[in-house]
Amino acid sequence: MAKAHKLDCESAAADCRFIIQSEDEEEAVELAKKHMADVHGQEYTAEELQEEHLQVV
Ligand SMILES: [Zn+2]
Repeated sequence: MAKAHKLDCESAAADCRFIIQSEDEEEAVELAKKHMADVHGQEYTAEELQEEHLQVV
């Protein structure tokens, strides 16, 4: 099975249940950046998201 890149927003924002899962890492990062900016008003770089929040499942 292909690996998927997953962001579980609950680990970044305790009250948020948003989960992104994609086999495309770039897409996962883009969606995560957009979610963080739109919903939480926080700007993350792709590197921060990849290192701190994205899991490979
Ligand atoms: Zn969130």
